[in-house]
Amino acid sequence: MNILVINSGSSSIKYKLFNMPKRALLNKGAIEHIGEKGSKIKNHRMGLKQVLSKVRSVDAVGHRVVHGEEKFTKPVLIKDSVIKEIRKSCAIAPLHNPANLAGIMACKELLPGVKQVAVFDTAFHQSMPDRAYIYGLPYELYLKFGIRKYGFHGTSHEYVAHEAARMLGKPIKKLKLITCHLGNGCSIAAVDRGKSIDTSMGFTPLEGLVMGTRCGDIDPALVGYIMNKKKIGLKEADYLLNHESGLKGISGISNDMRVLEAKSRQGDKRAMLATDIFIYRIKKYIGAYISVLSGCDALIFTAGIGENQRGIRLKITKGIFSHLRKAPKVLVIPTDEELMIAIKAYQLVKN
Ligand code: ADP
Repeated sequence: MNILVINSGSSSIKYKLFNMPKRALLNKGAIEHIGEKGSKIKNHRMGLKQVLSKVRSVDAVGHRVVHGEEKFTKPVLIKDSVIKEIRKSCAIAPLHNPANLAGIMACKELLPGVKQVAVFDTAFHQSMPDRAYIYGLPYELYLKFGIRKYGFHGTSHEYVAHEAARMLGKPIKKLKLITCHLGNGCSIAAVDRGKSIDTSMGFTPLEGLVMGTRCGDIDPALVGYIMNKKKIGLKEADYLLNHESGLKGISGISNDMRVLEAKSRQGDKRAMLATDIFIYRIKKYIGAYISVLSGCDALIFTAGIGENQRGIRLKITKGIFSHLRKAPKVLVIPTDEELMIAIKAYQLVKN
């Protein structure tokens, strides 16, 4: 069975075609600049037409959908009622869900009768206990507006956790794992016997680790204070926290860890500081997650920095297990969110 995996973003459609259950990658690519000024590809429908001209015999489609709120705890076959719910979730994920939805609508039209599956980034973290996902805010905000920690990168955390179990030759049900997804966006998860019990991203992907351009955890009182000091509105403040902060904001040089490593070697103090802060925050979360898991069998690194930057990995792990009777294994596992989506879509469609 051939499964087309679609990751539809605001101005791009990334795709991979897999033959399942062999997990053979038949084709992959990306259509970019959708809807941008001067681009020939005006919308997602046109983008998807291009994708379909490059792939053949699609038996089913798996879509990445960023936010499923509490409604979706596992992948689902896309029906009108599902589309309605994803549309409702655009309010909570205005940057992502509308683009995901555009991909789904284009597929529905251009591949009539082909089964489509939605796989949610938030679903893996729906197993968190309430003590991990409720904020210290009035409880009514959770009940009325769904304000809670959701967590993201779930498909990646789940994929590498299962790969780790395979590599260790142990059932996932017997493992306590900490998974570090360190790319431009960064998050970390505590995975207890295959289930996420805590993760660093929150209501939005801004919480937690220091990232390429996102600040991660800060004192929430700072938002109003910065707005006041800089005389900016909420929209600009949101932009500052999401796009001008993190490694880029601290270093004043770049959000790219490769650039910061090179600059640090040349003695650039701010590049060194940004890297130090990045590493320190990760160490703190690992310590916290060893504590909530009551131990850890393996620490897993994935995504751009996690997979490729050995120097950063070594600095993160240096000394952090010295208090444990048995040090966890440290594994580097390339993530493959698209393959995970294909596996899940295949499982659902074949039944
Ligand atoms: P995204 O979240 O955009 O998918 P990636 O997983 O590609 O991000 O990670 C990007 C980060 O990984 C950057 O900080 C980059 O410097 C770092 N990185 C280090 N080595 C590589 C590499 N070989 N390829 C891609 N990114 C790398």
